[in-house]
Amino acid sequence: MYCPFCGHVETKVNDSRLAAEGRQIRRRRECLACGERFTTFETAELVMPLVVKSDDSREPFDEQKLRTGLLKALEKRPVPQDAVEESISRIGHKLRSLGEREVPSRHLGELVMEELRHLDEVAYVRFASVYRSFQDVEAFRDEVEKLRQRGSLDPLAGQLSLLTAEAAAALPPISGKGRGRGK
Ligand SMILES: [Zn+2]
Repeated sequence: MYCPFCGHVETKVNDSRLAAEGRQIRRRRECLACGERFTTFETAELVMPLVVKSDDSREPFDEQKLRTGLLKALEKRPVPQDAVEESISRIGHKLRSLGEREVPSRHLGELVMEELRHLDEVAYVRFASVYRSFQDVEAFRDEVEKLRQRGSLDPLAGQLSLLTAEAAAALPPISGKGRGRGK
C-alpha cells in the first residue's frame, strides 16, 4: 500500500503476525522513501451482518432460526431437504456479499420469501401471510392477488382463505401500525 505520510508507492513489511485470535494480520511497515513506520491490520470482510429488528435491537444472524422458520412454512410440503439447505446457503451468501455490517430484518424476510417462492408457493403464502402481514398488508394482498390471477392458487382456494383469515386475525389494528406488539 502507499505510504500514508508521503504517498510513496513502495513500503516494506518489517513484521507480520496474527492478531485478534487469528482473525487479523498485523503488519509493521516502513516507507522506502520517507522512512516512516506504520501498522496495518488486515481482516476478511466476510462478516455476516447483524440483523436489525423493527424495534431497533440487533441480533446475530441465526442459521438455525432461519432453518426452523423455513421448515415450519414447508411443513408437509413436497420439498426435498437438500433444496431447503441450498436455499439457506444462498440466503447466507447473499447476506455476506452485501458487505454491510447491519441488515434490516425486513431485508432478510424478503430473501426468505424469494427462496420460498421458488421452493413451494403454498409455503411462500404461509410465510408471507404471517411475515408480511406485519410489514405491509397491502403488498401481501397484492401478492396473493397476483398468484390468484396466475391460477396457481386455484386448487388451494380453501387453504388460502384459511391462511388469509389467520393472517387477518394476527394483524394489528390498521390505525395502530407498529404498536401493541414487540414489547
Ligand atoms: Zn513515506
